[in-house]
Amino acid sequence: TQYVYRFGGGVSEGKAGDKNLLGGKGANLAEMASIGLPVPPGLTISTEMCIRYYEEGERFPDELRQQVAAGIAHIEGVTGKKFGDASDPLLVSVRSGARVSMPGMMDTVLNLGLNDQTVEGLAAASGDARFAWDSYRRFIQMYSDVVLGVDHYLFEEALEIRKEDKGLLLDTELAAEDWQALVGVYKKKVEEALGHPFPQDVNDQLWGAVGAVFGSWQSERAKVYRRINDISDAWGTAVNVQAMVFGNMGDTSATGVAFTRDPSKGDRAYYGEFLINAQGEDVVAGIRTPQYLTKAAREAAGAKPLSMEEAMPDVYAELARVFDLLETHYRDMQDIEFTVQQGKLWMLQTRSGKRTAKAALKIAIDMANEGLITEEEAIARVDPAALDQLLHPTLDPAAQRDVIAKGLPASPGAASGVVVFDADHAEKRAAAGEDVILVRVETSPEDIHGMHAARGILTARGGMTSHAAVVARGMGRPCVSGAGSLAIDGKAGVMRVAGREVREGDVITIDGASGEVMMGRVPTVQPELAGDFGTLMVWADKVRRLKVRANAETPLDARTARDFGAEGIGLCRTEHMFFDANRITAVRQMILAEDEAGRRAALDRLLPEQRKDFTELFDIMAGLPVTIRLLDPPLHEFLPHEEEEFAEVAAAAGVAVDVLKRRAAELHEVNPMLGHRGCRLGVTYPEIYEMQARAIFEAAVDVAEKSGAAPLPEVMVPLVATRRELELMKAVIDRTAEAVFAEKGRRVDYLVGTMIELPRAALMAGEIAEVGAFFSFGTNDLTQTALGVSRDDASRFLTSYVEQGIYPKDPFVSLDVEGVGELISIAKERGRKTRADLKLGICGEHGGDPASIAFCQATGLDYVSCSPYRVPIARLAAAQAAL
Ligand code: ADP
Ligand code: MG
Ligand code: MG
Repeated sequence: TQYVYRFGGGVSEGKAGDKNLLGGKGANLAEMASIGLPVPPGLTISTEMCIRYYEEGERFPDELRQQVAAGIAHIEGVTGKKFGDASDPLLVSVRSGARVSMPGMMDTVLNLGLNDQTVEGLAAASGDARFAWDSYRRFIQMYSDVVLGVDHYLFEEALEIRKEDKGLLLDTELAAEDWQALVGVYKKKVEEALGHPFPQDVNDQLWGAVGAVFGSWQSERAKVYRRINDISDAWGTAVNVQAMVFGNMGDTSATGVAFTRDPSKGDRAYYGEFLINAQGEDVVAGIRTPQYLTKAAREAAGAKPLSMEEAMPDVYAELARVFDLLETHYRDMQDIEFTVQQGKLWMLQTRSGKRTAKAALKIAIDMANEGLITEEEAIARVDPAALDQLLHPTLDPAAQRDVIAKGLPASPGAASGVVVFDADHAEKRAAAGEDVILVRVETSPEDIHGMHAARGILTARGGMTSHAAVVARGMGRPCVSGAGSLAIDGKAGVMRVAGREVREGDVITIDGASGEVMMGRVPTVQPELAGDFGTLMVWADKVRRLKVRANAETPLDARTARDFGAEGIGLCRTEHMFFDANRITAVRQMILAEDEAGRRAALDRLLPEQRKDFTELFDIMAGLPVTIRLLDPPLHEFLPHEEEEFAEVAAAAGVAVDVLKRRAAELHEVNPMLGHRGCRLGVTYPEIYEMQARAIFEAAVDVAEKSGAAPLPEVMVPLVATRRELELMKAVIDRTAEAVFAEKGRRVDYLVGTMIELPRAALMAGEIAEVGAFFSFGTNDLTQTALGVSRDDASRFLTSYVEQGIYPKDPFVSLDVEGVGELISIAKERGRKTRADLKLGICGEHGGDPASIAFCQATGLDYVSCSPYRVPIARLAAAQAAL
């Protein structure tokens, strides 16, 4: 089996499509080499080897050793240097790389192949002893930290002492002798820590590093990240071994990271940072402040140190050419790592750049307009779930702001919450329902769970490409990074800034778009829905086949839904209308009435109120369908539960307290979810549904008369299990409709249908469709009743269920396609067989979940209905499902 794939020097055994086998980094290194970009030669050990390594008890098979030796020979051939050669040694980097980039994986080891002999060779061959010893000390430090597990703090301390002794500030001011002396100190520290010397054999070094990459796949950090992000443990990671190029060979050398467009706002401008005379991750490590890539960015920031465009115009021009080439080749925004060695540009990585929702949207629309991608591709490029970020409020520009600090606008969006200094606390407080802002000096992969739990992230150190910034953008969390004026004492639970103290638990607001940090909770405003967002919606609407409706009962919700493009109301829950202070008394009188006459008297008082509700909804929905569900919950929900409330309620309803208590006791149910609710209320008290039907039809006729657009009421009977139930209720509704139409001398079209939320109803859909003209799958209850799991009690065990793979996802969030989906398919088959034009929709939480929407499309439903804010998400998801 081939486990090792070579690249560089005119060879490319892999390509961009080989991510599963070679990891993202390896596949793209091979791809870049194959399109003629300057990539240092190297080899990639496949992810298959990682899997086999674990299967065989963490041992390297001989087969691999031979293939790696051949790969090293390839690198030696291209570079003309030999690995371990004491006169002119080949040095390599060892880099991890899974299918998707993953924090928690081993950090890269640079300059591998240096030892006490080869360092002399490197010094002689390069004619630069300072460079050689600097590289060696970097290698010892990195290798010890990453592979041998020796704390890097030990080395930093030694370096600081040396600088202090010599009265120097910057690493770059140290001379060859300093680095050489430090190498001695470092080696001693390693030997003290480990009990054996730092490995001098270059092959031992190499295999140690390869083993560490494989080992990092099973690190706790990596496992946590995989769990949060639905990444399979079985993928494994690849290892890349690549010839070193040196950004630390003086002032004509540099290293940098860049995006081909602004990953935060999406603007079409090169975006990045670089450092002269530096290596590897110096840029992101925050040891020195990186310089801007472009002159424009430097000027905009008012920064002094020259941009790369100004300091190295020729290499910059070459880099810009490569950026354009990569964008055209990959047809996407790229995130790039590069090094300049003595004026020559080398490409070390490219991948599709992580971006904010805002940038994803802008880039997709721009690229389609530039002709780089099609409209369909643009639709597919935007994650519907991420749209959420754009639909949510930003800081009210008119609001008072008590700004206490300013950092970098690392990930947009505004968030308020209590200050928490530690990732574990953040997770705990968020789980308890608090909005949390995680505040750290800087973040590391160990903080991922806390960042995930937090509303927003604030750091005192780190740039726009720091860990906090990159991860926050990926997660869609607002982030302000590098707010340098914050003095954070996490242990003491306090930060000090501008003479003020902010304690753990105090509320702050961060604005990831401006970088501002404010005391207290700052009010927010609604987002702008025109522009790129509007364009994307227009494109999505062109291709989608599913209609999108909203679940709404208040005029405010209905209007929001219309603004977001809802094509009707898929679920108006009438019980919510009964809790209003003006009405609850009449509702209670109705419940407390001893006989039908008493109930009717109370219902008469509710009728005008309810008619007003529907008039408003029909007005707002102007001719679009409005599905109204008749009363569904058990009646006792409307009665008081607390002792103090009884007297007050009894007085308001005009009954004695003991009557109220007796009635409440009578209505008490052991299992109300399966009790006297839904159409069972209508069967026993038809006058309730009659009043609701009357309100619907009177409102519909009124609105039809006043406006041109006749409303389209769809009257929905809940919790039907049998044909007969629906038949009885439909008779009540039809009778009422005819009465209203006769009184008013005007008719409107309407439909009577049912919610399918019981397995029996799904199975008997053929019969039920004889009576009902539409089905709306109430997937919240259908999931409860099909799985026999109470949604309100599931939290105690459902997480374990998902963790152990019993259900792939929380079935209340993403439809259980296998089981509940099967019931929906059966109901659709049987229902449509009876009635070919049976209207079908879904109205549970699932109506706004992209995976569930894809299922609805595949099953052939007519529409999905979701909460108003999710309407755009559903429109986009429906379009993607139709592509
Ligand atoms: P990460 O996945 O954390 O970005 P990389 O493997 O990309 O890790 O390595 C990080 C950095 O190390 C690169 O951006 C580059 O600056 C440096 N680096 C890696 N390999 C080489 C190499 N062969 N020559 C010079 N620098 C390298
Ligand atoms: Mg890294
Ligand atoms: Mg990298």
